[in-house]
Amino acid sequence: MKRYECLKEISGLVGDALVVLCAGGTSAEWNAYHPSDGNLRCWTLGLTSSVALGMALGLPHRKVIAFDGDGALLMNLCGLPTIMRKNPNNLIHVVFDNNVYESSGGTRTATAEGVDLASVAKGVGIKNAFTATSVDEFKKLFTQAMSKNELTFICAKVEPGRGEVPPWSCMEVENKFRFIRHIESTEGISIIEARTPGSWKKVT
Ligand SMILES: [Mg+2]
Repeated sequence: MKRYECLKEISGLVGDALVVLCAGGTSAEWNAYHPSDGNLRCWTLGLTSSVALGMALGLPHRKVIAFDGDGALLMNLCGLPTIMRKNPNNLIHVVFDNNVYESSGGTRTATAEGVDLASVAKGVGIKNAFTATSVDEFKKLFTQAMSKNELTFICAKVEPGRGEVPPWSCMEVENKFRFIRHIESTEGISIIEARTPGSWKKVT
């Protein structure tokens, strides 16, 4: 199966969940199928799951989804025990495992040599850790995870290759501010405020 097939299949299932994406094909595909200011692309390789963890802990009433890659997760494998320890019941951690660092040229990752990421997740204590090898299986596991309030890890074994979607043109800083404003408006909270002149008086 292909990653874009999985993403397309679940694009209508996420509601108002906040979605943290690893850079590369995943972010372009997801934004094409589910454009939203609630999508945050994480450019730093490995930090998708950690940023999503922080998000899930900060907004415990809201579903948070991380779309991660095998290369990225392997770069920050120590994040998994932390996710287990904090155990956010609103976090779904999806890893699209294509056995390669696709965006940087296709170097094989350790999963190509047999590392089983769902077993790694189980090994650190994440109870709901699964592997999907077909789109139907992936959709079923994802749908179950959306309906439950339990930390869930899903490793989707996919073939390399990108969907035919346009690049996501939103720049990093723009994405960050739009994401913050999206949270502010949907949560009714203030996260950042523009500086104002000293003479400005707050109107209440
Ligand atoms: Mg990969």
